[in-house]
Amino acid sequence: MKNNKLENGKNRREFIGDIAKGFGALAIGSTLNLNLLANVPTNQTAEKFGFIIHGGAGTLEKSQMTPALEREYRAKLTEALTAGYNVIVKNGAALDAVETAIHILEDSPLFNAGKGAVFTAAGTNELDASIMDGSNLMAGAVGDVQHIKNPISLARLVMEKSPHVMLVGEGAETFAKQNGVTFVPQSYFRTEQRWQEYLQDKANDEKQKQKQSDKKAKAVSVNYVTINDKHGTVGAAALDKMGNLAAGTSTGGLSYKRFGRIGDSPIIGAGTYANNDTCAISATGDGEYFIRLGVARDISALMEYGGKSIEEAAQIAIGKVGKLGGTGGVVGIDKNGNFVEFFNTDGMYRGRVGTDGKMNIQIYKN
Ligand code: ASP
Repeated sequence: MKNNKLENGKNRREFIGDIAKGFGALAIGSTLNLNLLANVPTNQTAEKFGFIIHGGAGTLEKSQMTPALEREYRAKLTEALTAGYNVIVKNGAALDAVETAIHILEDSPLFNAGKGAVFTAAGTNELDASIMDGSNLMAGAVGDVQHIKNPISLARLVMEKSPHVMLVGEGAETFAKQNGVTFVPQSYFRTEQRWQEYLQDKANDEKQKQKQSDKKAKAVSVNYVTINDKHGTVGAAALDKMGNLAAGTSTGGLSYKRFGRIGDSPIIGAGTYANNDTCAISATGDGEYFIRLGVARDISALMEYGGKSIEEAAQIAIGKVGKLGGTGGVVGIDKNGNFVEFFNTDGMYRGRVGTDGKMNIQIYKN
């Protein structure tokens, strides 16, 4: 698997494509028995494994969600969860499960990653992503890429085909070109909803600037941009049957971000972390706080040095985010297959499936 070759001779990308195709039109419910859906033999006696994903945290008011839209979200989360889970059930690698699921979420206009990414203040889309292999602590990340259809796969290439951990901007795209990655024009990422959000942000910014010049304060207004009403970063964490953990995260970042801003999602230890000795974590939220606190690595360290459970560790780490004034959450899985979904916002798009094949998709707080 590590060498991009699967047992059946297909390479990893073909394999991921097949899985993604197979789940185009999946019916949805809150809790489904995956065995009915996936049409693949599950090995109930295999040691613990599991897969968990998120599609961003924020103010997800039920009043703003139509039943039809909620169905769409649940369908896409289920599709991604199923695809990743199938990789693991077929004895695939945690890393492949993570990449497969994030691919699907990046391709969906519903989430702030890949297609449907938020706009920067300059009206561009600048994408960040990272992935980490808990079995060897290898990691790859990209920041501020503007023409890469699936940044998560480029992050994986950085991990596997470069001596570096993180590449950004034009350099990352040059590396992508050299490795035959799919490029898309900026227009590919645009959705009407994100464009309207951008126009709204622009109008707010003008107002803010007006206020500031009234007060003779010429500082640039960067503080009001929060994830509260713009959510949709995507991420995944997996434990495979070999006992390997992996995590990944992909995002368009904060809406109306400026100056080449890069958030926590591509920062190993902040937005993403995986270590076979502890856990795999993917975060979402106000990235600056997650960077300052090194949230994903903090959770792993609390487990490693503090003897905390994954749930306790996530609670402590997100507690610290809250104390500083940040919002967001994490999903994760530990080396024994225990899940965590913890957030200090009204909701977080999320789904998990364990060894029993029972899928659980949630949007709001329980
Ligand atoms: N954490 C992301 C960032 O700060 C945003 C999000 O998760 O919604 O770029």
